[in-house]
Amino acid sequence: MNKTQILVVEDDSPIRNLITTTLKTNNYRYLTAVNGESAISQTASHNPDIILLDLGLPDIDGVEVIKKIRTWTNTPIIVISARTEDADKIEALDAGADDYLTKPFSVDELLARLRVTVRRLSLMQTDMTQNTSVFENGDLKIDYAAGCAYLNGEELHLTPIEYKLLILLSRNVGRVLTYTYITKNIWGSSWENDLASLRVFMATLRKKIEKDVNSPQYIQTHIGIGYRMLSLIHISEPTRRTPISYAVFCLKKKKKKKMTRSNNCLMKYTQKVSV
Ligand code: CA
Repeated sequence: MNKTQILVVEDDSPIRNLITTTLKTNNYRYLTAVNGESAISQTASHNPDIILLDLGLPDIDGVEVIKKIRTWTNTPIIVISARTEDADKIEALDAGADDYLTKPFSVDELLARLRVTVRRLSLMQTDMTQNTSVFENGDLKIDYAAGCAYLNGEELHLTPIEYKLLILLSRNVGRVLTYTYITKNIWGSSWENDLASLRVFMATLRKKIEKDVNSPQYIQTHIGIGYRMLSLIHISEPTRRTPISYAVFCLKKKKKKKMTRSNNCLMKYTQKVSV
């Protein structure tokens, strides 16, 4: 069985139980850790697919745990924290977290974040196995090798900064990138001016790729924090399926459909013959 394994790092037992029960009923495998020390050692020994991390831990601060884990692995980390300040979220994201969820959170919200992360993982795996130099997301296509981007097959005329921005977001699809992370990657610095420029370039980029800039489908704004490129692959069937079992499910469904169709044909044929 190839179920996604999640490490739940939470010292508060009612919350830990809520999370693990949710994971269990949604067909995820899980491990638990009640402090930072154990989170680090469990990550090293079990190599989980995703880490759900509380920041307020009894021994080491969650941000330090992220920094430590990031020294050897890129395993997606979703922070679940009672800290609501933007500065705290930014600190965790800059330390290497992929996403955050503020307590109190709904179970649906948690499952949605997990689905996004699982999709991102499977995209990363496809990228690794196929060594693709082409990125496709909805109507958007980027040919990294050729240095071109297309929307609906039409080449986009992007400025070098817009192109760099699009590449950075696409390479981190599903992940919230902070303003500091983006400006450092684009301009090598992170001054007030860079942030102002980033807003301008983001607006011009959006005009070129979004159907409606007021309700963008590709680039999501996290006010006061940063931006995230969303993955436009929708999985509408029951969420507990992993991408692989989902593919198998679709195949079976297709086969069933075909069978019913051929059964219908057979019935019609039999009717004709009998007439
Ligand atoms: Ca805590």
